[in-house]
Amino acid sequence: MPYHEFTIRIPNAFREKLIQRLTSKGCLGFIEQDQAIIAYFPETVDARAIARELSIVKELLEKTHRDLELTYGHGIIPDHDWNEAWKKGFTALDVGERFTILPPWEEARIGRINLIIDPGMAFGTGHHETTRSCLVLMERYAGKSAKARFLDLGTGTGLLAIAASKLGYEQVVALDIDPLAVEAAAKNVALNRVENVLIKEGSITDAPGTFDCITANIISGVLIVLASDISSRLNPSGLAIVSGVLAEQADEVADAFRLHGLTLIESMPDDKWVSLVFVK
Ligand code: SAH
Repeated sequence: MPYHEFTIRIPNAFREKLIQRLTSKGCLGFIEQDQAIIAYFPETVDARAIARELSIVKELLEKTHRDLELTYGHGIIPDHDWNEAWKKGFTALDVGERFTILPPWEEARIGRINLIIDPGMAFGTGHHETTRSCLVLMERYAGKSAKARFLDLGTGTGLLAIAASKLGYEQVVALDIDPLAVEAAAKNVALNRVENVLIKEGSITDAPGTFDCITANIISGVLIVLASDISSRLNPSGLAIVSGVLAEQADEVADAFRLHGLTLIESMPDDKWVSLVFVK
């Protein structure tokens, strides 16, 4: 099946928003380059609808930020090229001291904790700063708390849940409100042959019991709303790793978690993002 390929140039600060909008319009995947984002859609998607969506974003951008602009090109590529392009975008990546994230077509690395991810349609190939920070923090704190129960809220491809299992957490729960993410996570859990990860469609209120560690790599607005529930599901010595927070929103997010009884113990910046670690 051929695919639509949109090559979009947009200021970096607006990439995330654009990715969200295009995902909701049926985008199958993105390749992020220095100068552009390449977005792929199935042949069945009406390219004119995507072009309209891009025009809306372009107009909004130009209205609110006079010097910034969005430009794009559209092409159709055959299936074969799509696979090649996809593969090029997802090469093995070492993260933290021990993790290697790799696609199913690459050989596992000896001596590393291999996290095999077939990105499917969900977010979380590990190439995003916030995902990488979560992995680094998980690794850093895994030895410092009990490892009975782990919750990955907003699991996407299931990457952090799989990492938790491989770090030795006994029981891992992975939740996502997006059924496509649940599907992708199930596939990746199977690829990694981890057997203690329970994947469910839903959010924090669907999480059974309490946890020693909770990861939530979502976005500030959602994290602020979920702060109370995250706090109440943490064990007394539990740890929450919260990410997806833009640097300028870190204080607001930290305040929300503080209000619900948590203490900020580490704040890890990466580019425009910050990941926060809280304890009860
Ligand atoms: N954990 C992965 C994916 C993060 S993307 C990683 O770190 O790379 C964020 C995910 O959160 C998306 O898959 C989205 O569907 C999910 N999400 C957004 N709001 C949510 C909510 N209220 N409850 C559960 N999942 C949510």
